[in-house]
Amino acid sequence: MSVEKVETLIIGGGQAGLAMSEHLSKRSLSHLIVERHRIAERWRSERWDSLVANGPAWHDRFSNMTFAGIDPDSFASKDRIVAYFEAYAEQIAAPIRCGVEVNALRKKPNGSGFVAETSQGVIEPTNVVAATGPFQRPIIPAVVPANAGIVQIHSAAYRNPGQLPAGAVLVVGAGSSGAQIADELQRAGKRVYLSIGPHDRPPRSYRGKDFVWWLGALGHWDARAVEPGMEHVTISVSGAYGGHTVDFRRLAARGMTLLGRAESFQDGMMRFAPDLARNISRGDANYFSVLDAADAYVAKNGLDLPEEPEARRLEPDPDCMTNPVLDIDLAKAGVTSIVWATGYALDFSWVKFDAFDEKGRPLHQRGVSTVPGFYFLGLPWLSRRASSFIWGVSHDAEYLADHIARRGSAGKV
Ligand SMILES: Cc1cc2nc3c(=O)[nH]c(=O)nc-3n(C[C@H](O)[C@H](O)[C@H](O)COP(=O)(O)OP(=O)(O)OC[C@H]3O[C@@H](n4cnc5c(N)ncnc54)[C@H](O)[C@@H]3O)c2cc1C
Repeated sequence: MSVEKVETLIIGGGQAGLAMSEHLSKRSLSHLIVERHRIAERWRSERWDSLVANGPAWHDRFSNMTFAGIDPDSFASKDRIVAYFEAYAEQIAAPIRCGVEVNALRKKPNGSGFVAETSQGVIEPTNVVAATGPFQRPIIPAVVPANAGIVQIHSAAYRNPGQLPAGAVLVVGAGSSGAQIADELQRAGKRVYLSIGPHDRPPRSYRGKDFVWWLGALGHWDARAVEPGMEHVTISVSGAYGGHTVDFRRLAARGMTLLGRAESFQDGMMRFAPDLARNISRGDANYFSVLDAADAYVAKNGLDLPEEPEARRLEPDPDCMTNPVLDIDLAKAGVTSIVWATGYALDFSWVKFDAFDEKGRPLHQRGVSTVPGFYFLGLPWLSRRASSFIWGVSHDAEYLADHIARRGSAGKV
């Protein structure tokens, strides 16, 4: 069997893999990207049909390429995002080989370099960048048994309302995916129950500026660590229907039943924690904290941005908040399907050496792992809040490219 030698192997052809390629090319460092499917595959086949970017086109992009043919303040559709990454790969002449999956990565026995067993043969790189994404394996909590007579899918498998059977639907999870999917299902005429856990719920825009602009102005994109205790809070934002603030009270006013966290299921009864009001008020607190910080910033810097007092008005609490529903007989309520928008886990089972802590989390400093020559890129908070966003990943890729350059082709550092 022939063995191919490369200096740096990048695994994954999403935004992180492309950003890495660009910065290695800028330093004339030879490399190869392998992607098991196609460029930006997650956007093509692992998201719902109507998905648009959560951030506006002027922001959610690489610094050296704009989105062609759309209003910079609009939210790019997933098809446009795919086209953007394809065009970007062409612009930077990325050496990418699609349809090649890395099944196992091992360290060479003599300690210098790696052996990648791929679906197309063996590759021996000096360095490896794992750019396989922050959202790798969909998680469905083991709450409702598969034989309960209810269609259950993860948000990664949700495509559109027509895919679900007739009847009501329970959406579990109210981060960006769950909130957007529940909204879409309700607009399509379905009876929707939405189970809401702790979340952040920033305003889409305030005083004429999008939330992502405020994150920049307030220095939050550059935040280097998640605040203690805030590690697992999902963020609920939406670019759908032209972009709007996620507002659970408004969804309830349109007929959606809001519930606390889904806890258990027995004999057809689904039970929910009595934490809905607390979770919503925590989301409100996050919302108002952004308004307060923005107002303080405007005052401090003497900016001329229009005041927006109506942003501080909340809709009345719906009945399901004041009289929480703690259990539902799913059959009686006509619930025939559940969409689990409950997030993703990392999956580095293909890495056959130890680069992880006891919980399986990657051990690294700004993406430089504990194994010389092995790097992580694109993980949430790899170096700062922006790390897993389209434009932020480039900053981390630049740092890793410098590190790889210092190692040299013999892999000495
Ligand atoms: C619903 C939703 C909306 C989002 N909206 C936005 C947004 O508006 N703006 C934004 O900036 N981010 C957004 N994100 C985040 C964005 O999708 C991810 O951060 C982004 O896809 C990460 O890019 P990546 O290159 O790091 O990983 P991925 O896009 O996951 O790419 C990794 C690639 O690696 C490949 N791969 C994996 N394992 C292997 C292997 N063993 N061998 C070969 N190839 C492999 C995969 O096929 C994949 O193509 C959103 C995420 C979700 C879930």
